Amino acid sequence: MIDTQPAFVTHDAPARPITTDATDATDATDGLRAFWRSLVHKLVSCWRDPSASEAQADGYRGRQYHAVLMAMVTSGLGNVITVLALSAFFWGKASHGALLAWVVSVSVLAAFNAWLGWDRRHVKIPPAVSRSTVILFSLDVALAAFAFAIMPWYLFGVVDADGRALIASVLVAFLLIGSWMVAYLPLAATAWALTLCVGTVVTLAISDSSFFNYSAVLMGFLGVVAVATVLITSRTFLNSLKAEAEVEQQKQVVGLLLNDFEEHASDWLWETDQRGRLRHVAARLAQNLGVATADLQGRSLVGLISTMSRDLRHADQAHFDVFANHLASDMPFRDVVVPALVQGELQWWSLTGKPLHDPQGQLIGWRGVGSDVSARWHHEQEMARLANEDVLTRLANRYKFSHCLDEFFPSGAKPMPCTLFLFDLDNFKTLNDSLGHAAGDELLVEVARRLGLEIRRDELLARLGGDEFVVLVPGQMPRDDAAALGARMQAALNQPWTVKGRRIVIRASIGAGFAPQDAMSADQLMRVVDMALYAAKAAGRHTLRFFDSGMAAQASHKLNVLSDLALGLQRHEFFVQYQPQIELGLGTLVGFEALVRWRHPARGLIPPVEFISIAEESGLIEALGAWVMRQACQDATLWPPHVQLAVNLSASQFQSPDLLAMVDGALRESGLSAARLELELTESTLLQDDARAQQTLQALRSRGIKIALDDFGTGYSSLSYLRKFSLDKLKIDRSFVAALDAPAVDDGAIAIMRAILQLAQALGMKTTAEGVESETGLNRLRDMGCTQAQGYFVAKPMDILQTPAFIQARQAVDAQGVTVKP
Ligand code: C2E
Ligand code: CA
Ligand code: CA
Repeated sequence: MIDTQPAFVTHDAPARPITTDATDATDATDGLRAFWRSLVHKLVSCWRDPSASEAQADGYRGRQYHAVLMAMVTSGLGNVITVLALSAFFWGKASHGALLAWVVSVSVLAAFNAWLGWDRRHVKIPPAVSRSTVILFSLDVALAAFAFAIMPWYLFGVVDADGRALIASVLVAFLLIGSWMVAYLPLAATAWALTLCVGTVVTLAISDSSFFNYSAVLMGFLGVVAVATVLITSRTFLNSLKAEAEVEQQKQVVGLLLNDFEEHASDWLWETDQRGRLRHVAARLAQNLGVATADLQGRSLVGLISTMSRDLRHADQAHFDVFANHLASDMPFRDVVVPALVQGELQWWSLTGKPLHDPQGQLIGWRGVGSDVSARWHHEQEMARLANEDVLTRLANRYKFSHCLDEFFPSGAKPMPCTLFLFDLDNFKTLNDSLGHAAGDELLVEVARRLGLEIRRDELLARLGGDEFVVLVPGQMPRDDAAALGARMQAALNQPWTVKGRRIVIRASIGAGFAPQDAMSADQLMRVVDMALYAAKAAGRHTLRFFDSGMAAQASHKLNVLSDLALGLQRHEFFVQYQPQIELGLGTLVGFEALVRWRHPARGLIPPVEFISIAEESGLIEALGAWVMRQACQDATLWPPHVQLAVNLSASQFQSPDLLAMVDGALRESGLSAARLELELTESTLLQDDARAQQTLQALRSRGIKIALDDFGTGYSSLSYLRKFSLDKLKIDRSFVAALDAPAVDDGAIAIMRAILQLAQALGMKTTAEGVESETGLNRLRDMGCTQAQGYFVAKPMDILQTPAFIQARQAVDAQGVTVKP
């Protein structure tokens, strides 16, 4: 039984097993019938591959049919020549009419089949063929076989033994050759083989020679072998057809996809030979470059891109070098971005490529995809720029600066030398608050511009935020050079600048430090310049300070103070001293200013200048201030009702939403009248937020609390807001008062003082001179119209227990009408 491959077997008609019981004749007939049916079925179903569609099956059939037809001219010719030769051989031994009829019938059929083949000799792609065409053709083949086989049957009876032998051998040859020639069409081949086989077997079997009878059996066996061989051959052929069709289909699909890819995607395919010359040029690429595809064919890809990169900036060109290196490396690469100047426009291409190798591993070229990623590239560049740039000044931002600074401190290696300058604009906040944020922004942009003019290309200028700028100078820099650079930058900033019609002089404090001398890490360098900046500010601003180890000690001291402050509050280490303020005219006592003191268990008495600013920075000032307020109000109740109490308020206290509740609480607890309380504020406190400051001041004054402006003359000293905020008192800073005490009196200071005093008088404000240390000063102040005084000449700050004696002594002096004398 022939084993046909599964694809050829139809599912609906499995062959019934052939029974072996020879006694059951009906069963044997049934079995034969079933075998026959299944054989025919299989032969027919050879055309029908269940896994293939009807169209595919027609296609396969077309190619099988075509392959068979191509052999028809040769086989037809062979048939005719053989028939002619046999007829000639038997011409004298058989009927001429029969021989002629045989020659004609075989020739006509052979000619028809040969014509079928000849007609198709130019056909390259065989057309599809239906099943019925193949069945018709198979009938045609069967007819040809019959026409051939009919004659031997006649001749066998009339020729001698030699003639029969000749006929038998020709029949065998024809059976095999013919089957083989139409083997690609199993149905036709089977039709040929069976017809010839049956004809021959019958011819031989009816012969009276036992030799030919035996040959008949052999012939029958050969027929079966021929059919089996044909089926196997046709199956192999069909398989190869299917494989071919599959490859073809894949090629078409890939081709379609590639077409689609090149037509619709923004990407293009590229392929080069081993020398990098373009082999496959995508239409899209050519179109993009504005040249014909043919013009690109054979051009070097690297050359092409390098030509397009030549006019680019140096930084952009570096991308091209990366690409060229990849190509030289014989390794796959992915998303390498190269710049390309296409028709004057800068594009960014992303290229991905894979080396192609021959079976011996030799590089034979490259294949890959490219795409125009300009939009994405620009977007990414923009994102990177935004991430690294300060939006206002367009300088490097803190992130970028940190990144650059880190590079000077490679991990595991020695730091590379560099110098860092940290800038802080003096009074920037005041200016920002008084002239508005727009003016503040303008100022920052101007600072960036001026500093930018002073630095070299390899130096980095960055804005860290607010009014903080840095300049990072790479390399070893002598201290003198650094000082000179600092001075130059300061001088550049000092040039007058006009904003909103105002002339402003920008001043900056600068802290500077060197690596690796001062710091072995980026963090440490930042810390040391921060300390240097702090020192510069403490030294009266507008100066440059280099870091020194003393600053570190100071900073650690600051840290210690900070950690001790909270503890000090809990342990009641603070106490309040009171400094009298007197009326200059009659010398009567006006009141006392409360000044906080810290008696540190280890370090003794610490003056407020050493801890107030730290308390302010750390936020502890609110708790400390509230405690002073409660304590002072309590203490003030010991004094006669006309004696006032002045309490200092820090900016953060003034801005705290708890301020009113805190003051009210202290007054309520102590029972002190609000009218006896005066709060001392500094200019900067009032400048922070106009509207809110106004509101708070209003709320305080509505309670009867008085407001004094402390340290007048040291800050921004805008006279306009003296009018804007209704204040009760101006306290003229000690630095002005000291000028009056000096042996050589400063005329300028006196002139300013006069102007301030007159203005205060005009605005109905009292004036208190701070830090009066001598009688001369006191007298001068009185002459100039100052109304009150406070200072060591009157009295130093004293403990609460000393105040009653002072008040009493004062009253006695007053009663005697003696003018001020401590
Ligand atoms: P301030 O408000 O200007 O206080 C006056 C400062 O001048 C006091 O220093 C006082 O002792 C000092 N002084 C008074 N007369 C003379 C004089 O004739 N010559 C000299 N050389 N100095 C004189 P103190 O007590 O060291 O306070 C310094 C600053 O600390 C104060 O300046 C004030 O701003 C702040 N402060 C003091 N106590 C408090 C407080 O309870 N709360 C807040 N927020 N700040 C306070
Ligand atoms: Ca004060
Ligand atoms: Ca003061």
